[in-house]
Amino acid sequence: MESKYGPFTAEELVFVGDWIADFLAGQHCDGTPAITRSWVNHCKGANAPACWNFLSTWGGTCDCTILAAIHRREIELEEDWRAKDRARMARKVNEDRAKLAALEAELP
Ligand SMILES: [Zn+2]
Repeated sequence: MESKYGPFTAEELVFVGDWIADFLAGQHCDGTPAITRSWVNHCKGANAPACWNFLSTWGGTCDCTILAAIHRREIELEEDWRAKDRARMARKVNEDRAKLAALEAELP
């Protein structure tokens, strides 16, 4: 799925940011994207190359610079995440309305 965040969703990037931040709270960045790589390889599988291409466009070459890139976009990411949730909820409400209308149509 392509989004403005390449192979990621806004939600995933917020999650990766939290994941990296948790690790870097206990250790220094070793100058490699090792922590990010473990998440990308585990969660994105075959999409991993696209993930690295995308992160490189944000200037993320090691875990701390990837984290900084995500933090710089934190407000935008969270807004996009919420907007997607609102769209999902609106779709759900419409589906529920359609189901109700169908039920009502079956009533005698
Ligand atoms: Zn670093």
